[in-house]
Amino acid sequence: MRCFFDPRQLAHAPTMELHNGGFVPYAETPARAEAVLAALGPVEGAVDHGEAPLRAVHDEAYLAFLWSAHKDWRAAGRAGDASGYAWPIVRRRPLALDRIDAKLGAYSFDASSPIAEGTWGGAYWSAQTALTALDAVLVGERAAFALCRPPGHHAGRDYLGGYCHLNNAAIAAEAATTAGRRVAILDVDYHHGNGTQDLFYERGDVFFASIHADPRTDYPYFWGHADERGEGAGEGATLNLPLPRGAGLAEYLPALERALAAIAGFGADLLVISYGADTWAGDPISFFKLETPDYAVMAARIASLGLPGLVVMEGGYAVDALGPNVAAFLEGLA
Ligand SMILES: [Zn+2]
Repeated sequence: MRCFFDPRQLAHAPTMELHNGGFVPYAETPARAEAVLAALGPVEGAVDHGEAPLRAVHDEAYLAFLWSAHKDWRAAGRAGDASGYAWPIVRRRPLALDRIDAKLGAYSFDASSPIAEGTWGGAYWSAQTALTALDAVLVGERAAFALCRPPGHHAGRDYLGGYCHLNNAAIAAEAATTAGRRVAILDVDYHHGNGTQDLFYERGDVFFASIHADPRTDYPYFWGHADERGEGAGEGATLNLPLPRGAGLAEYLPALERALAAIAGFGADLLVISYGADTWAGDPISFFKLETPDYAVMAARIASLGLPGLVVMEGGYAVDALGPNVAAFLEGLA
């Protein structure tokens, strides 16, 4: 399988500084990408598709904010990396805000996704990697893997969160749709892909299915509940299959079969897979019980759909296990 990665993604390397001056570990580290690379064969770099495919998914003012946020934070005399701390949860609306602190709240939904000096570059090349891998699928590869990081599935049209800044899977899905494909997105990260869902929630031309930890107990809490099915033209084109903490392959496979049946029923001709290895039993921030060989089983079931597939890397925080878990999934798909 052709695999894609651009070393410029490593420029995103934030630190989490606490208000008392201490630091906490940041789970979405460049070491994740290096661990996956060590388990792959040769990888191809990203081709620059420019900002147009990003603007097709993200708000232009949001992109401008993301581009300058770290510079603005430092220009305001602040130390460390930029992060929000006040959010407009009541009557959120477009406002002409001046101060970087205000913009950070307006364009994010949590405080766990700091913007560092290299964040724009890392996120930009992560998205370009997804687009380059998509090109391979569009010209006839049966499957391709985009080693994206930072990940993307929590990012929406005009907001970041959950370690995500640009929604790589959605950017690729939108580009594939523009190229005339009928796209389904299958999100198998431990966490609900709330940004991806939000981007396509009112659209009937892209199907979104997600299997994830029940948001009543797990991040991102406010989205991914089973009764979220899409709205308007998108009604029925969103499928959420939450599972309880502790779920293993026996609980996972029936949900996967439901998702695959729905994708087949939708008539998709291209599949974008948001793959997170944080469903692994030893993941430090997650609570499913999948084992490494289970990823080959999952992937073989997905491959049975017979659709061309673009695999986009999302989460997975047990760095030492990340290579084998990605390799098992890709081998199962092939
Ligand atoms: Zn995740």
